[in-house]
Amino acid sequence: MTIHAYAALSPETDLIPFTYPESLLQDNEVEIAILYCGLCYSDIHTINNDWHNTMYPHVPGHEIIGKVIKKGKSVFHLNIGEVVGVGWQCYACLNCEFCLKNNETVCLKKLRTTLDRYGGFAERIVIDSHFAYLIPLQLVISSAAPLLCAGITVYSPFMLYPIEPLSSVAIIGVGGLGHLAIQFARALGYSVTAISHSPSKEKEALKFGANRFIHLDEVKKLKTPVGLFDFILSTVQASLDWEEVVSWLRPGGKLCFVGIPPQPIAVSSRLLISGNRTICGSGTGSRKWMKDMLQFCASHHIQPQVEMFRMKNINQAINHLKRNQVRYRIVLEP
Ligand code: NAP
Ligand code: ZN
Repeated sequence: MTIHAYAALSPETDLIPFTYPESLLQDNEVEIAILYCGLCYSDIHTINNDWHNTMYPHVPGHEIIGKVIKKGKSVFHLNIGEVVGVGWQCYACLNCEFCLKNNETVCLKKLRTTLDRYGGFAERIVIDSHFAYLIPLQLVISSAAPLLCAGITVYSPFMLYPIEPLSSVAIIGVGGLGHLAIQFARALGYSVTAISHSPSKEKEALKFGANRFIHLDEVKKLKTPVGLFDFILSTVQASLDWEEVVSWLRPGGKLCFVGIPPQPIAVSSRLLISGNRTICGSGTGSRKWMKDMLQFCASHHIQPQVEMFRMKNINQAINHLKRNQVRYRIVLEP
């Protein structure tokens, strides 16, 4: 059987219709009929080969929601007809020292849904069932897709780098990742500042749960000798003045990168040493945190705000995202 998809054949070009033969279902795999797929900025990075590891034809799409239509004979935890999600990672060995510590994202045998195979801008996908997650019934499935990458990516830092209650948390960038990060940080009880270079996003950032909204250029005016924030999560794909951003941290504070700027981060060691400050990063999240995050969203009414596009209009959707016009995540329907 053939799978119909959309693929980029080279960097910086439009996606075009593309078909490929369906692989034979293995015992541990499920076949999923795709209902929705989110458009993440990482898809733009991979389409454009920003990370020098894209192989063409490249079928992007790693925020997948769909129905299980076939399952291999050793799949016992999922049933035909159930709604599941698939994110950035689609395989790990589950046996190495990292996998055994719930840290599959750094497994040396890991596979990525779009860089190591064909992704979710397609009608169906065949995937290791260990990386297909049951979607809690309380979630609205038409808007749940962004949780599978954006959601897990901004939930994990709060688990990986525990922050004391009542801490002051800043989220830089109110985009696909950022608008969910604000909701998580607020639900976890922190005092949340949204930092954005788009004044038009203020009202909605406050609606997502930010206690205050500051324009990126205005933060330095508010700086005090002890800094402003205990934890800063940067979700932007742009290079900012990181030396300035680190100076917003209070002593002992952390700047955590989830957004991927094009240039290396330049910060003087003196700034880190003098205030015991840390710069760190976080990539998507483990299977356990994925399950926890989906349940956390169901319990705390956390929901992506989405704009729907038909898959056939994928190139329009990509341009809309590149222009920073999306409020706040595009979801494509095949
Ligand atoms: P997005 O929806 O475009 O959001 C990024 C936000 O960054 C924008 O909405 C904008 O927010 C801000 N921004 C954009 N250009 C800027 C500029 N020139 N100066 C200052 N701010 C700017 O993208 P996304 O899907 O959230 O992805 C963001 C980044 O995260 C990408 O690099 C992506 O690859 C990365 N990512 C990483 C992981 C991981 O595992 N670590 C997972 C998924 C995505 P304002 O308008 O509010 O300023
Ligand atoms: Zn993503």
